[in-house]
Amino acid sequence: MKHEQIVELIETAVDQLQYSYVPYSGFRVGAALLARNGRLYTGCNIENAAYTPTNCAERTAFFKAVSEGVRDFQAICVVGGPDGRMESYTPPCGVCRQVMMEFCDPEEFEIILATGKEDYKIWKLKELMPLGFGPDNLA
Ligand SMILES: [Zn+2]
Repeated sequence: MKHEQIVELIETAVDQLQYSYVPYSGFRVGAALLARNGRLYTGCNIENAAYTPTNCAERTAFFKAVSEGVRDFQAICVVGGPDGRMESYTPPCGVCRQVMMEFCDPEEFEIILATGKEDYKIWKLKELMPLGFGPDNLA
């Protein structure tokens, strides 16, 4: 992926921090999901007073895309931190990694974690979800 494209993903994810709904944790997360059709799908975390209905930024982005018929993805960028301060990388939780396993090739799909436009690191899904259970296990 080109540097300019990575920067666009980071900027888009950072822009989502303002929309996160986090009255309980104050921990804002933003995501930008790049589909293979070139479209970007955005997400933020959305908390709930009953806690368990809370949804992560990554899954918000995935479910927006899938609900529009898009299931082929290239990469996702995730940023976040307390009150939106991006002091360290914000890796996807296990539930979100499992959702990625459903729709993404673990050998190809890239997860970009960033604290800014010049500080980021890229992982393949297989690195963050080794021996993950996916659709192929049911084939
Ligand atoms: Zn998650």
